[in-house]
Amino acid sequence: GTVCVTGASGFIASWLVKLLLERGYVVRATVRDVAKYEKTAHLRQLPGANERLQLFEAELLVEGSFDVIVKGCDGVFHTASPVFNRNVTDPQAQLIDPAVKGTLNILRACANATSVKKVVVTSSAAAVVYNRLRKVGVVVDETWFSDPDFLTEVQNWYALSKTLAEQAAWKFAKKNGINMVTIHPAMVIGALLQPTLNASAEVILQLVKGSIETYPNASLGWVGVKDTAEAHILAYEEPTTSGRYLCLGRIFHYGDIANILKNIYPDYPIPIKYNDESSPRVPVYQASNERLQKLGLKFQQVEELLVETIGSLKEHKFL
Ligand code: NDP
Repeated sequence: GTVCVTGASGFIASWLVKLLLERGYVVRATVRDVAKYEKTAHLRQLPGANERLQLFEAELLVEGSFDVIVKGCDGVFHTASPVFNRNVTDPQAQLIDPAVKGTLNILRACANATSVKKVVVTSSAAAVVYNRLRKVGVVVDETWFSDPDFLTEVQNWYALSKTLAEQAAWKFAKKNGINMVTIHPAMVIGALLQPTLNASAEVILQLVKGSIETYPNASLGWVGVKDTAEAHILAYEEPTTSGRYLCLGRIFHYGDIANILKNIYPDYPIPIKYNDESSPRVPVYQASNERLQKLGLKFQQVEELLVETIGSLKEHKFL
């Protein structure tokens, strides 16, 4: 079959392209700038790329720029979205518009392409877990929705962009009869295929390279990049899938991650305190990954993932 992957040069998408090529798919990969060496060289080198990888240029905010690419595809994986939470001066322009309008731009292309049988959208755990109802002892699952008012209040603009994009996607998909599933990864770590540093790998880099004195007072899910890519493919290939899929291993506080890293790498200057000492430590909550487990996904353990991440950061000379 032929599938399209948007934002193909990204951390998750690069693994997705790799696994899709391994499975024999023809992959139409979209990037913003095909001529930029660091955005495509690692993709062109993947096994099968010579024969079955096609690179295209597309920009989320350019109306219709995905139309010709999606036309003729059996499936579409939409991963492209801005991923950062620092230096946000204009949340609407930097995060919300590309996420929401970009998603609708791609879904519109899918609705117009009769060949497209299924669409997999990379949403986020950030579109699931940020809700005032969350408390210890309650298991967060796919029936949960992040609350845009809460996210606006705490100015978590990235999570807001993912929440609004998902809402818009479901509304459009239902109205236009698109067969869509959404994948909701938590903090994605593991080996980088791309030579550039993505935001979630940077989180681990910061914890070990001595650039931060304290770690965030937050508990969140952690998941491997290969598992995340695999989740997308399982959700695509299994004919009975529908709805949302939370993609995470266990929930850990940043402090737990810092401790694990300290045990494995005692010489790194890993912070030992969180940033807002006056507030209580955010408790670890429970979240269910049962839906993906039922599709056969086995989640890699966080210790192993941290070792892979550090090894990869070294290999790419970030560390
Ligand atoms: P990356 O930053 O590595 O990849 C994001 C991709 O989106 C890049 O290829 C980027 O292109 C592309 N993109 C951003 N803005 C635009 C735009 N305006 N037009 C076209 N393309 C654009 O991030 P990840 O791989 O981590 O994230 C991929 C997806 O997974 C995102 O949807 C993200 O929200 C989601 N996700 C990520 C998590 C994580 O922990 N990493 C957790 C949960 C969800 P370019 O390279 O040109 O900048």
